[in-house]
Amino acid sequence: MSDPLVKASPVAPWIAAQTHALLAQRGHAWLLAGPSGLGQYELALALVRAWLCDHATAQGACGHCSSCHAIDVHAHADLCVLMPETVMLALNWPLSEKAQDEIDGKKRKASKEIRVEAMRDAVEFAQRTSARGRGKAVLVFPAERMNVYTANALLKTLEEPAGDVKFVLASDAAHQLLPTIRSRCLGHTMTWPDPADALSWLQGQGVPANQAVVMLRASGGRPQDALQFAPIAGLWPRLPRAMQAGDVSVFKDWTPAQTVDALHKLCHDLLALRCGAAPRFFEAADLPKAGGWQALSDWAKSLSETMRTVEHPFNVGLMQEALVSQAQLALNAKT
Ligand SMILES: [Zn+2]
Repeated sequence: MSDPLVKASPVAPWIAAQTHALLAQRGHAWLLAGPSGLGQYELALALVRAWLCDHATAQGACGHCSSCHAIDVHAHADLCVLMPETVMLALNWPLSEKAQDEIDGKKRKASKEIRVEAMRDAVEFAQRTSARGRGKAVLVFPAERMNVYTANALLKTLEEPAGDVKFVLASDAAHQLLPTIRSRCLGHTMTWPDPADALSWLQGQGVPANQAVVMLRASGGRPQDALQFAPIAGLWPRLPRAMQAGDVSVFKDWTPAQTVDALHKLCHDLLALRCGAAPRFFEAADLPKAGGWQALSDWAKSLSETMRTVEHPFNVGLMQEALVSQAQLALNAKT
């Protein structure tokens, strides 16, 4: 199977519908908020593409003009993209020459926060005149990765926008933003895609139909997140019973974060079943009738604690073994 992650993706129908709705409203600063995986970044990009496009319609950018092309190749003089360096690199946006040199020269690691230096460049950008004469745009994603200094610098620019500049902030955790930033923006809550649309979009990314169903379930209905489950989709339905049997081999190629996330979801579904609710991440038929209430609650608490340190495990294999024996205990507990 081709890797669905590297394939260029056409704008998903739920993103297109939201682009159309937002373009119909006036506003120089938008805050797109909602849980991860619903397409905040894609919607933000569709908006700035339309704002800067030479032939934009009510539906959005034309996709063919030199402005659209410049955005597609991530080199538009009137677009400033403000992201943590790790996200810039993952999404193929160029870093400033200085930042790239420092990282290449191993002077420091790529930053997981939006750096003060990048914010300074953005403030300067906002004060310059538009290169192509169609105004300018600043895209901030994920906006919650601004610290208090960068957020305050952005706030000044939002309060006194110099000239023709529009902002779009996209966030998975808008509650972490300064209230003053939130109040300066028009808010938009991301809409959940219809499951049928999400499934056909996943298939459009090269995912086989039966895998798409598993991946969408595993992600809790979030299509962009679902793509990350492609390598483990085949194992997902088998996971609950493997945990009951204490079989650690299913996690062979999984990262620690994927492992803890999967166990969290399994625990959630088993607790849901005990309350008489429908499972969300696994098919009911794949879940064993197992686990005592107390044991499952304790397990959930312990997993939440593990989640906080999961990026720095001392030894991935040992960590997974410990997690699996904990899972097995909880699944086979009587109370
Ligand atoms: Zn265009």
